[in-house]
Amino acid sequence: MKSDRKHKGEVAGSVHRVGIGDEIYGLIEKLYPICRSITGDGVRETLEIMREHIPLDIREVPSGTQVFDWVVPKEWNIRDAYVKNSRGKRIIDFQGHNLHVVSYSAPINRVVPLAELRDHLSSLPEHPAWIPYRTSYYNQTWGFCVSQKQLEQLTEKEYEVCIDSTLEEGSLTYAEYFLPGEMQDEVLIFTHLCHPSLCNDNLSGISVVAHLAKHLAALKRRYSYRFVFAPGTIGSITWLSENRTQLDQIKHGLVVALVGDDGPFTYKRSRRGDAEIDRAATHVLRHCGEEAKLLDFIPFGYDERQFCSPGINLPVGRLTRTPNGCYPEYHTSADDLAFVRPERLSESFIQCLKIFRVLEQNRYYENTNPMCEPQLGRRGLYRTTGGTDIPGRELALLWVLNMSDGEHSLLDVAELAGMDFDVICSAAGELLRAGLLSPVE
Ligand code: ZN
Repeated sequence: MKSDRKHKGEVAGSVHRVGIGDEIYGLIEKLYPICRSITGDGVRETLEIMREHIPLDIREVPSGTQVFDWVVPKEWNIRDAYVKNSRGKRIIDFQGHNLHVVSYSAPINRVVPLAELRDHLSSLPEHPAWIPYRTSYYNQTWGFCVSQKQLEQLTEKEYEVCIDSTLEEGSLTYAEYFLPGEMQDEVLIFTHLCHPSLCNDNLSGISVVAHLAKHLAALKRRYSYRFVFAPGTIGSITWLSENRTQLDQIKHGLVVALVGDDGPFTYKRSRRGDAEIDRAATHVLRHCGEEAKLLDFIPFGYDERQFCSPGINLPVGRLTRTPNGCYPEYHTSADDLAFVRPERLSESFIQCLKIFRVLEQNRYYENTNPMCEPQLGRRGLYRTTGGTDIPGRELALLWVLNMSDGEHSLLDVAELAGMDFDVICSAAGELLRAGLLSPVE
């Protein structure tokens, strides 16, 4: 074991962090009021606040840049928007909630007949108090989102409609944070940051990933870690296009999003299906002590779609709690600060760290004494009085010794033994210190 172990924690070390859920929630609260979209100053403002936690490297990719089959769009910014009645009262007001404006709405400032206005309104009849979240990135139009109650109160013949927005040549903004490890091999962690005032989707992902980065920065790492914060779809496509020559350094990847709600953990496997990240996440969630769902890859969801497109096919899975579209509050104003909870955020943070810990510690070993079992009692590793029940620790020692033939990784051993990776890993540590194992490079 390395001598600096006492001074610098390892990813393999304790992941219990008191108060981390409150810290993660605190950043969500700070970022909640900002109107983000796939481009624009809301993204920049978000990243500047995140820079108080981690030294992000912020990149700007100009509008018009070809990124695979897509083009970086014009930059959208908005200052104000409203619908006023005949008495000049704002009855729909962007200043009250930024979800009221369809993201990427073109500017408009004129009096509009009710029938025309209605064609540009979205509401949720089944949840009359909620405002839906709608976007129109690639089809230039304008629109407002309102509660069903607001919609029903529109009775005048015409309304003054104003959206003070700009859609101009500018850039797409994304950010990276790179943490070098002992190896150049990388773990990629991606989260999208293009949603306005919505907490589970996507502030929970942003804040959990930022705090993971902050936490890992202080630890000793075998892998290098690259954290990417970018808009959904166009952001991951842009990032992949800009980094296409370096993709083979990515050995494992995880898209993290929607991790603050009360739903069970849901891991979606990579397109490969049996990548090490798939096996590590599956193992961790099976041993996490609560219900967890494991899904096979489908080409629908978040940015794993791009990382797992056939020409890219990286080993990138996705961790959420309740997935996109599977809870009523999804993409509505009800996905607010009350919908996400510090305890849930903290549990998500810990499961991510456990997955990274498996990746860090999942190595191959060789039993240095493979001709029959080595005598463990003589080495102080085994109880000296025989009995019928074998303690888990001792059973783990036997499993590691038996399967360490250079062909089975510690995760293989844990799966074969049906034991928690941590138990197998600490058994391997004991055997290594006793000289009964040697690492296979
Ligand atoms: Zn979303």
